Amino acid sequence: MTRATIEERLRGAGLRATAPRVAVLEVLAESHDHPRVDQVIERVRTRGVMISTQAAYDVCEALHRGALARRIALAGGPVRYEARVGDNHHHLVCRDCGLTVDVDCARGEAPCLEPESAHGFALDEAEVTYWGLCPTCQIHDDRRATA
Ligand SMILES: [Zn+2]
Ligand SMILES: [Zn+2]
Ligand SMILES: [Zn+2]
Repeated sequence: MTRATIEERLRGAGLRATAPRVAVLEVLAESHDHPRVDQVIERVRTRGVMISTQAAYDVCEALHRGALARRIALAGGPVRYEARVGDNHHHLVCRDCGLTVDVDCARGEAPCLEPESAHGFALDEAEVTYWGLCPTCQIHDDRRATA
């Protein structure tokens, strides 16, 4: 994403294109590992942009509210953000190290799962998360088992 696209997206969401917002959205657009806020801060600072911890949390939330970032908050885990929005992709999450990987939705459209009975609800989303061990943690797990 070019800088102009980033600024355009911010303005499209009703947000002024301040340096911290541009930097955070740039970082999210380039990151595919669903970074935690502390990782976002580190990456923003690497770009030479000053950002306080509070400001980083605020910017991430503003991007989320503006539908420019997706917020992933799983039980027992830290909040993560990503710039891949607008599709119905799901996540594979490692129980050990928290590695979070995108996986396309088999059906494509939300809700991609139908309950046995919707009890009169108008459903618009099914939250699907696949839990397991990533390849690296499987190796460690084997080592532990044989040690
Ligand atoms: Zn892992
Ligand atoms: Zn994702
Ligand atoms: Zn799906």
